[in-house]
Amino acid sequence: MPDTQYDKEMNNFSYLQADQAKEAINAKRDDKSAAFIAGGTSLIDLMKLNVENHDQLIDINQLNFKGIEQTNDGLRIGALERMSDVGENALVVQQYPAISQSLLLAASAQLRNMASIGGNILQRTRCGYFRDTAFPCNKREPGSGCPAQTGDNRNLAILGVSDACIATSYPGDLSVALIALDAVLTLENAKGKQRRVPITEFYKLPGKTPHIENVLEPDELIVAVTVPKAEHARRSMYLKVRDRASYAYALTSAAVGLDVQGGTIRSARVALGGVGAQPWRSREAEQLLVGKPATEASFRAAAAVAMRGAQPREHNQFKVQMAQNTLVRALTDVAAKA
Ligand SMILES: Cc1cc2nc3c(=O)[nH]c(=O)nc-3n(C[C@H](O)[C@H](O)[C@H](O)COP(=O)(O)OP(=O)(O)OC[C@H]3O[C@@H](n4cnc5c(N)ncnc54)[C@H](O)[C@@H]3O)c2cc1C
Ligand code: SF4
Repeated sequence: MPDTQYDKEMNNFSYLQADQAKEAINAKRDDKSAAFIAGGTSLIDLMKLNVENHDQLIDINQLNFKGIEQTNDGLRIGALERMSDVGENALVVQQYPAISQSLLLAASAQLRNMASIGGNILQRTRCGYFRDTAFPCNKREPGSGCPAQTGDNRNLAILGVSDACIATSYPGDLSVALIALDAVLTLENAKGKQRRVPITEFYKLPGKTPHIENVLEPDELIVAVTVPKAEHARRSMYLKVRDRASYAYALTSAAVGLDVQGGTIRSARVALGGVGAQPWRSREAEQLLVGKPATEASFRAAAAVAMRGAQPREHNQFKVQMAQNTLVRALTDVAAKA
């Protein structure tokens, strides 16, 4: 793995604190090199590495994108809520445990206190070549190449990858739980118009254009995320497997939800982290589970289906089995609680 370089000089930038969404969006529209900043835990890192260079930072922390509440549509979380506040919120802990667990197993306490929900959803890959400008990288510089294909790819993806990029474009935890539980993002543009995008349609696979990571327009903000209320959300969990017990990204993870009645699975939700070019929902595994007994044999069959089409590289072949074991364990644990 290449060493990340913090020894370069960071470029100068101006700073604007926006009070209204319109002010923030207009400032960004007028300055193509500007970026929104929330907690700054991801953005400033990438600026120090010279992976991202912005001549203006637009601080959005004063915007009214707050609140953690149950609405008619389900759990609504403002994009500027902090990871720790959402992870520890009683409503989230009791009704949406996979979301709470995905947040509390992420990063460190200090980072969780600072980092926002919107920023988490938009965090970028931890591929070492992407983060070190001494190396080519198609995601950072389209057309320059992908040294990870034959290089250090241990932490990278095995599903949805392409010849142009094999990164886990979103390396984190929260969006895996959000994808499992059918969350919907509310986005707002310069005209004050809002649109709702299911998070299953938000991230893009790399294909030939790995630098295009999601469907967010440059002049759009994430306002909130809404998670529908459901029995499989109440009976959900997030399991994370990593090299050490804290402060590490997932090698593999699973967000699952089950509604089991009389030993039979009525509905299932299955998503995987650490293995997909985007947080990976496996509808095939879900379809296989519905109507089956909640037994290890059913879970093993679903895990095998979830790994269909996996394309591991030299150093991440272990993820094929590890991801299946992670999924079986998560389904077994959640079924035991059902
Ligand atoms: C050492 C370390 C370990 C970590 N470990 C984990 C982990 O295990 N699991 C995990 O999930 N994450 C992990 N993270 C990532 C962390 O969760 C993110 O850095 C954090 O969530 C980003 O939130 P932020 O508010 O600081 O975003 P910022 O850094 O402020 O912004 C990130 C990006 O999002 C954009 N943005 C922010 N908010 C909005 C919005 N509302 N609308 C539009 N654009 C917006 C910014 O312009 C920027 O491009 C780790 C980070 C570090 C540094
Ligand atoms: S895997 Fe993607 S992010 Fe990593 S070097 Fe290749 S193109 Fe860049």
